Order: sequence, then C-alpha cells, then structure tokens
Amino acid sequence: MRDSRTHQPLTYAVRLPDDAQADALRLLDASRAVVNQALAILWPHLDEFGSDRVGPAWKQVGKYIASPSPHGDRQWRCESEVLGRVLRAQAERMKAFELVLPILCDGFIRPKTEKREASKNRSAIKEALTTLQKSLEEDETNFVTLQNVVEQCCNFFFAHDHFPSTYEELQPLPLLKVGTLTYAGDDGPEKGQAYRLALDLDGGVARFRFRYPDSAGVWHWRKVDTIIPLPDAVRERLKAGELMAPTLREEHRADGSRMAVLDFIVEVEKQEMPAWESVERVLGADWGVHTLLTATAVDEHNKQVGRPMFLNTGGFDGRQARTRRQIDELKKKVATYEQQRDGLPTDHPKRTWYNQRLALYRREIDLCWRKYEQRNRALAHLASNVLVLLARVHGCSLLSMESLKTLKSTGRGKGVRGRWRNYRNNSQIRGEIWRLLRYKCHLIGLRFHTEQPRGTSHTCPHCGLPAKTYRSPSERKEAVQWGRWLFCDICSYNGDRDYCASVNIARLGVAYLGQMKQTGKARSCPITDPRVKPVSYTGAGAALLLPPPSTHARPSVSGKICYYPGWLGSAFLQSSHKKHLFLRLCG
Ligand SMILES: [Zn+2]
Repeated sequence: MRDSRTHQPLTYAVRLPDDAQADALRLLDASRAVVNQALAILWPHLDEFGSDRVGPAWKQVGKYIASPSPHGDRQWRCESEVLGRVLRAQAERMKAFELVLPILCDGFIRPKTEKREASKNRSAIKEALTTLQKSLEEDETNFVTLQNVVEQCCNFFFAHDHFPSTYEELQPLPLLKVGTLTYAGDDGPEKGQAYRLALDLDGGVARFRFRYPDSAGVWHWRKVDTIIPLPDAVRERLKAGELMAPTLREEHRADGSRMAVLDFIVEVEKQEMPAWESVERVLGADWGVHTLLTATAVDEHNKQVGRPMFLNTGGFDGRQARTRRQIDELKKKVATYEQQRDGLPTDHPKRTWYNQRLALYRREIDLCWRKYEQRNRALAHLASNVLVLLARVHGCSLLSMESLKTLKSTGRGKGVRGRWRNYRNNSQIRGEIWRLLRYKCHLIGLRFHTEQPRGTSHTCPHCGLPAKTYRSPSERKEAVQWGRWLFCDICSYNGDRDYCASVNIARLGVAYLGQMKQTGKARSCPITDPRVKPVSYTGAGAALLLPPPSTHARPSVSGKICYYPGWLGSAFLQSSHKKHLFLRLCG
C-alpha cells in the first residue's frame, strides 16, 4: 500500500455470480469462525497491538499464535490479516479511551428530567475534547476517535449508571458478526495460494478463483474460474489506479438472506486540496424544505455567481412511499398465511401450499426492498454528482454544506405516517449524500466544510437581518415557520426560502474562508455575526454545464425544469435560466 497522504483506496463491491455463492459463503463462515476463535485468544494482548505496528497485520498476529484451526498457510495469513486489523483498530480506540478516561465526568450527561430522558451534553463533551486535543498532536482522525469513544462511554453510562473504568469493561469482545476475508495476506493475484484474480479489461470481466471448504469440510480450489462482470466505474478507475488485493465478504439482505460480494479495491492518486489563498468561490448547499437540495455559488467578495440550482424529488418520494406500502401489504399477507398455516396440524397436506406461497411473498418483499434501496443510492449519487459538477463549473473550491444535525420534516405525503416515512427516508438519503460528497470532494480536491444551519432559513441574505417566511409570495398576512417564501421587513428583499438558505450557507462559507485566509484557523460563526457579509447578486458568470449522468439519452427541458434520463418525473433540476440556454447548459 502506498502513502495514505498521496493515495486513496476506492472500493467497489460486486456480487459474486450465483454458482459461486454457496462455496464463497461456506468459505466466509469457516474464516469467521477462525478469526473469532483467535480474537478471543489474543484479546488479553490488545495493548501490544497499539505499539509494535510495523509491517502487515498478519505478521504481527503470527508472532503470537498459529491458526487455531489450520486449513492452509496463506488462508490463515488472510484470516490473521483481518484479525490483526481488528486488533489494531481496537488498540487505537483503547489508547483514545485512556486519554479520555481522566476527563470523563458527570458533566457529559444531562440528567433525566420529568420531560425528557437523560442525554449527552454535547457542548460540554466538545469543549472538553477540544481542550484535551490541544495538549496532543494535531490529528483530525484522532479527534473523531476520541469523540466516538466518549459517545460509547456515555452510552455505557446510560446502561450502567457509571462510567467504565477499563477499556475491557467498555468494549465487549468485538466478534465478527458477518464473514469478511481480505486476500491481502496472500501472495498476490497471480501466485496466490488462497485466491487468483485475473483482469480482462477488454472483455470487461475479472476471472476469480478461490479455495473453499466443500459441504463435507474438505478444502479445494474451485475447479473453474468465476467470471465477474466488471462495473464501468471499476474499469474506468483501473486505467489510472492500481488493483489491490480484494476482500470477500458477506452482505445481509433486508429479508435476512445472505450473499457473498467481492470488494474490488483500486488505489488511485489523491488530488491535493487547493491552498486556501487560491480559493475564491464557495458553493453553498442547503437541505431544502421543498426541494431535496438547493445550491448557490458566491464569491469571496460576497457576490452571487450564476443562478441557483434546485434538486427536486417530489415524484421520487411518492414512488418510494408506494414501494413501502407494497412491502407493508406483502408483510401483512405473510403474517396472515403464517398464522393460518400454524393453525393446521403438523402433518396437514395444505401446509406445503402455504409454505410455497410464503416463499413467493418473501421473495417479492426482498425485491421491493432492493428496488427501494437501489433508488435511494442512485438518487444520492445523482445529487452528489450534481453538486460536485456545480462547484466545478462555478469555479468553487469550497463546498459549504448545511450540517445533517437538524433535519427538517418536508411535510409532504398523505397522513402523519406517510410524512414520517418520507422524512425518515429523506434523512437516510441525506446521510448517504453527505457521505458521498465528503468522499468525492476528497477525491477531486474540493474543500468540504459543514455549517450549522441555525437561523439560515430565517435570515435575509441581502441585508443579513432576521426575516420571516410566508406560505407564498402573495400570502403575507401571517408568518409561517415552514413557509416557502422569505420576506425581509427591513429591506423588502424576498425570495424562495430554500434559495435564501443556500445563499446563507454560502455566506457562512465565505466568512469561514476569510478566517482561514487571514489566520489559518476558523471558528464557525453564527449567521448574525458581522463577519458574515450580505450577498449581492449580479447574475454574471452564470455558466452551468451539467452533463447527463448516462450517455444514452439527453436530458430534456420543459419550462424551467430539466428532466434527467431515467429520472423522468422523479428527480429534476430547476433553474431560472431561459429554456434554450438551460438546454444547452445541461449538455
Ligand atoms: Zn433584508
């Protein structure tokens, strides 16, 4: 593995073909059993995995034990690589625990009151950790680990009414729940003694062969290569990157069934982050009330660049809600049939009929879940790509994103239950988009910063003073908290609520950028802070070039909305560009 500062591994999971599933799952079960057995043996030596960390993890494990259940030397190396990585990660957490142990205090916990349950005092935790971190070397991941461990300690407190005094008390033996086997401990794709992997980039496939235990527990090589079609993204990445040893692991489906996937890991060069001095424009993105995302670009002199973009998902929510209803109905049928079947005597002939029906319904439920999750993932990719592209075409090197903490209910959907569902699904998608964005920004060298959304949708982006929102531009009798139109009583500025919020997020980003440029350090400031400057809009530099996500069809523009192929009526971009311009800009 090359230097983590300059290179980054990208992982692509590909499901193994059906004919290899059973053998691969058996292999994973066998590996998991060995890893867990060895984990129990080595757990008392955990602290030794925190220091001596030179070389691969399997070597370190090898110093202590041999396989508790031998079935091939390289197979054990791969298993001990998994094991060693778990132990090293746990040792890292244990170090973090030892650092936070002296500062764990009751102040971290907000006691239970009549109105609410006991909870974590996040501001106290953050303050204590910041102070603690100042005494350590600066390292961002370190902070996350510290925070993570404190969270775990607080959860322990809720369960036991006291903080843990040792790491072992806090952390139970972290046994693997699902099988995972990295081939990094083996001798490579050509000479491997546990696996072989050959790429056929022209044919677009990989040939994978592996050793596995058969149903009698005897270990063999698979007689034939497993042909795995490579996704386009992997082929694309392999042109510039290097293929690392793959990882075989199992995934659980919504219905509880399992499947084996092979993670293709491609190591690519990281883009360097632009120097703060060179950052001139900021793209502000807001989780909308009426749209999924709204984004606006602002330059460092607080001038808006180009026009805002709205990613709307109205039809998408409806489709997802329908799929959820379908799943509910199927589940109801399953419950009824199960009840009817269980009412029959054990030797009743109709039981078989019920079982067949039940199997059918369960498969149907599984299909629905897959469709549902696939759609979520696809939307998250679309949204993150759109944002990254927008940042690029506007020349923004900093993406200022509203943080995920305060999720707004969209109020869409029929009935409380439907609305809650949409809300919950939206929060899932937002989490996914956020993760993808952070990852993609890192990959292409775009700075990413999150902002607290406090007050951003109730502040006038024009004069920077608090403003109210109303149901619509014409209905201004009564201010509504979730209203879609913002109107400023002071300067009479008014505009779409989500748009205003995105400008405000961009303004926060500009203030942050200013601090970074001047002092190299920044504290997030509230939207009312004088450092957060008002924005003026010139409409200049409105260049938007958005290639469609698929190459098969062109996006079509109807009025001020651009529909993407494959997303007709479910997700669309909206902008105030003129039709002919918009169509040209969208590729
Ligand atoms: Zn104003």
